[in-house]
Amino acid sequence: MDYELSAEQKKLKADFRAFCNKEIAPRAPSVDKEGAFSFENHRRLAEIGFLGLPFPEEYGGGGKPLLTCALAWEELARACPSTFLSSGIGCLLPGMAVHLFGNGAQREKYLAGLTRGDKIPAWALTEPQTGSDFAALKTQARKQGSSYTLDGTKSFVTNGAMADWVVVVAVTQGEAPLRQKLSAFLMEKGTPGFSAGKPLDTLGARGSPTSDLNLQDCTLSGGQLLGEEGQGFALTEKVNQYGRLSSAAYCLGIAQACLEESILYAQKRQAFGRPIAHFQEVSFKIADMQMFVDTGRLLLYRAAWMMDEGMDADTDLSIAKLFLSESATWCAAHAVQVHGGHGFIKGVKVEQLYRDAKLGEIRDGTSEMQRRKIARNLLGEGFR
Ligand SMILES: Cc1cc2nc3c(=O)[nH]c(=O)nc-3n(C[C@H](O)[C@H](O)[C@H](O)COP(=O)(O)OP(=O)(O)OC[C@H]3O[C@@H](n4cnc5c(N)ncnc54)[C@H](O)[C@@H]3O)c2cc1C
Repeated sequence: MDYELSAEQKKLKADFRAFCNKEIAPRAPSVDKEGAFSFENHRRLAEIGFLGLPFPEEYGGGGKPLLTCALAWEELARACPSTFLSSGIGCLLPGMAVHLFGNGAQREKYLAGLTRGDKIPAWALTEPQTGSDFAALKTQARKQGSSYTLDGTKSFVTNGAMADWVVVVAVTQGEAPLRQKLSAFLMEKGTPGFSAGKPLDTLGARGSPTSDLNLQDCTLSGGQLLGEEGQGFALTEKVNQYGRLSSAAYCLGIAQACLEESILYAQKRQAFGRPIAHFQEVSFKIADMQMFVDTGRLLLYRAAWMMDEGMDADTDLSIAKLFLSESATWCAAHAVQVHGGHGFIKGVKVEQLYRDAKLGEIRDGTSEMQRRKIARNLLGEGFR
């Protein structure tokens, strides 16, 4: 067993950290304050090849293993969680749906634009009445000849308001078992009947626009079906694996940033005639943050490596995502505590990280759903 990253991976991580420190981190406060997606960040990330990292080179991607991608994901999340949510996770999920289930023409059309940064995608699964329970999805896709007509509402869609194309999961066979009931479609901006709501006013990750999408009699040609009819559940399960992995990286980046901010502050802030780092109540919080960050990073790397090796990583992905999401909220809460009153003030980085961290326990499967998955994989299907 070798815990060492390759020389190429170490260089990629170091170079990407330097890029993020110089180009992304300085914009993070205004991205959060203005609650606006940074097209400039997105453009620069496309230029340096970040957007295409996991996708094949023939579509402008980097063809990198997920473990290598995870190194870059952590760095972007550390610098600006909102930007990672939109330009990282928000592009990865629809991109992977097309990469894994699309035909040649679909890959050529949608992946090349994604990796160049010209076209912004979105992934639309959640609906007003359900997020965790796919069986309760209501958006309908009715087949009429060779085309499909979609009706329904999608909720909380990252990049929804600005997306050029969206992967929409809809019910094609209402009476069929869940595994055959759903299909996925490629919906383009401008499709008659398709509209996005205004970005929602969110607690954190405020620079990543999240919107509802309304589909009213949206007619799509058969060529907009992604994969085969009835493959939507399998596609969603697969995409959710990438969701858990990248969400875990989002949380790791936040936890790492909390650790670094806490070390800096504890060393410079004086109380009772000495740096607060000299008080065990403070230094032990920082020691625990390091423990959570290190453990979580190993879990993330293991899950990424297992996916790269084609192993069944289902339980390991949930463990990594669950552990890192709860570590990130723990680290953020304690980073605010280390900063005292300053940590409660807008414009101080840990205040933003505290708000951004919470999302990790919710999206790409809540903590409760991760525990259920781990338990079910251990205890068998009879588990409820
Ligand atoms: C900022 C943001 C961005 C998002 N981006 C996207 C996106 O791009 N695309 C997309 O499709 N979705 C997106 N989502 C939606 C997100 O994935 C869902 O919010 C999440 O899956 C939870 O679903 P829900 O909100 O419907 O909660 P619910 O499923 O209603 O759950 C509510 C609570 O009940 C618990 N619960 C539910 N069922 C069970 C059970 N069986 N056992 C125990 N507890 C249970 C949950 O854990 C949770 O605590 C986003 C959400 C946010 C906030």
